[in-house]
Amino acid sequence: MIRLVAGNWKMNGSLAANRELLDGIRSVEGVELAVCVPYPYLAQLAQRPAGLELGAQDVSEHAEGAFTGEVSASMLAEFGCRYVIVGHSERRAFFGEDDLVVGRKALAALGAGLVPIVCVGETLAERDAGAALAVVGRQLAAVRDVVGPEAMAGVVIAYEPVWAIGTGRSATSAQVGEVHGAIRRWLEDGGVAAAGVRILYGGSVKPANAAEIFAVPDVDGGLIGGASLAAADFMAICRAA
Ligand code: PEP
Repeated sequence: MIRLVAGNWKMNGSLAANRELLDGIRSVEGVELAVCVPYPYLAQLAQRPAGLELGAQDVSEHAEGAFTGEVSASMLAEFGCRYVIVGHSERRAFFGEDDLVVGRKALAALGAGLVPIVCVGETLAERDAGAALAVVGRQLAAVRDVVGPEAMAGVVIAYEPVWAIGTGRSATSAQVGEVHGAIRRWLEDGGVAAAGVRILYGGSVKPANAAEIFAVPDVDGGLIGGASLAAADFMAICRAA
């Protein structure tokens, strides 16, 4: 399966800074590259390096109507998005998104022909309590229950331990391998065509640790936050995939 490396710019960028960043992005043989950008910059990204896929960082669960401030999946599709991140831990923690809302957002994305990048992952307290796999299983089950097992084959899953996001502290290869293997088995046991589902790792991936993380079985790419804002770092990570 073709690996996917997706940058999550979060709430960063400006027209000028984006142009400079995009100037440094080139396609990498055998790896799919994507950037998930703030909504206003989707139009700017109509012009982007060949082969670079476009994504957003959130989407409304609703199709249209009186939902001030929301952006629908069909709008994202109209602006050329292929991907949309749903359930990022920052959305769960700061904006109160629960498992059910994340499932509904994934369903809305699929309905518009987008590929949701479904983020799952435990907090440090949950890991310390030995609950990492249970939390990830619960988060995935909520999405599967909304979209159905067949549609689960069309999502990308990003395992992002909350304690590793933006902290500089990546999960170890053993921790990543354990969770990614468990996710693959969980998909298989749930009747999902799991072999084709890409499971990305996210959380403080940098050029220095990317190759080690991408060598872990069942890691099919990465979701890259901070390091996706510097073209040289992002490209080094993409080349390591
Ligand atoms: C993210 O926000 O999805 C992420 C993985 O961030 P970082 O790479 O900065 O830890």
